[in-house]
Amino acid sequence: MRKVSAPVSPDEIKRPEFQKFIDDMIETMHEYDGVGIAAPQVHESIQVAVIEAKDNPRYPKAPEIPLLVLINPVLLEQAKEKNLGWEGCLSVEGFRGQVPRAAKLKIKALDRKAREYTLEANGFLAVVIQHEMDHLIGKVFLDRMPDLSTLTHLKEYERYWLKDER
Ligand code: ZN
Repeated sequence: MRKVSAPVSPDEIKRPEFQKFIDDMIETMHEYDGVGIAAPQVHESIQVAVIEAKDNPRYPKAPEIPLLVLINPVLLEQAKEKNLGWEGCLSVEGFRGQVPRAAKLKIKALDRKAREYTLEANGFLAVVIQHEMDHLIGKVFLDRMPDLSTLTHLKEYERYWLKDER
């Protein structure tokens, strides 16, 4: 979890074992109602993350994000403007905290067929991308919190914070 992950070569990406690994990551993400998961969270120290948001009970207000596979993602640009938003993590189970994140960004990455693509994102998707890319350099959202004053148990979060947001 705390290591910097290694990039994956295009030849490796095309191997059936690797394709199976991606499928397994997607399945794990679905199983735990995550909106993203990174390979280090399933004990593989390689630069792979998957992202998807659709009718997610853990993030009921999240906008829909189609399935994205990020392999060897590189940050190309990011806005100086930051937004403060709530984050949780499958590897920091049961907590939410407020994290400042760049409001907009542009990345490049490889898809599961080893084709390079660029992606511009803002809002919720930009947050999820930054969260997952952090996992690839061994960081979790707690490391990005300026202080831990908003760190909240999920139960308290639902009781005290979520109602104010509505
Ligand atoms: Zn996470």
